[in-house]
Amino acid sequence: MSNVLLDVQGLSRRFGGLKAVDGLSLQIRPREIVGLLGPNGSGKTTALNLISGVLAPDSGSVKINGHEFAGSPAYRITHHGVGRTFQLVRLFNTMTVRENVVAGMAFTNGRLFGREAARQADALLERVGLSGYAGKEAGQLAYMDQKKVELARALAGRPKVLLLDEWLAGLNPTELIDAIALVRSLKDEDISILMVEHVLEAVRSLCDHCVVMTAGAPISYGTPAHVLSDLEVVRAYLGD
Ligand code: ADP
Repeated sequence: MSNVLLDVQGLSRRFGGLKAVDGLSLQIRPREIVGLLGPNGSGKTTALNLISGVLAPDSGSVKINGHEFAGSPAYRITHHGVGRTFQLVRLFNTMTVRENVVAGMAFTNGRLFGREAARQADALLERVGLSGYAGKEAGQLAYMDQKKVELARALAGRPKVLLLDEWLAGLNPTELIDAIALVRSLKDEDISILMVEHVLEAVRSLCDHCVVMTAGAPISYGTPAHVLSDLEVVRAYLGD
């Protein structure tokens, strides 16, 4: 069990009579990219919400570096090294790109203000390929660039584990190549990733392991090649 950064066991959450997440377990080790796959409505976003503290689980365990955080508020989980992006980009549209990134520093050790915060934000913007955008209004940026701002804001919290919710969706083929390279470079910087993703090209080229869910429950674990050829997974996607 050593060496596990994020250890999720038996995670469950109901909405009324619906079991949105039902006994999900997964582990992420340093420098691993784990894919969370499944058809629409299978509970993937709810799982990210439970892990990141946006929602409280009914039962199950979420350990970060061996410490239990299930049910803890989102800011504590961010503070302990788990950052995330959202499926629908959530920026402060009328604030500048730099201000959006600085907002992501709010829960790190030793809050940053003023020039040092701006300097670090600009370095993160350069990191995601947005140098020169710092002073622009976030809402004016193209979709791909807004996604990059959201990523820079998540990185501003200095995550050890990053949860990406369909971060690669909706990109054209050129943008996709660029975005895949960016995600891979995060791994090279010792950031581990749990990614909810439908873009199979990205899953195949990035993920070390995958978990596939249907109706809230995990049905297949393994390498991308294994799970994507698993008959049960194929049936789940086809709605058989
Ligand atoms: P996915 O991300 O795999 O598309 P979701 O986690 O968004 O799936 O949703 C899983 C199930 O939980 C769906 O049936 C969805 O309608 C339901 N659900 C999600 N959030 C809520 C909520 N806040 N209240 C009630 N039902 C919800």
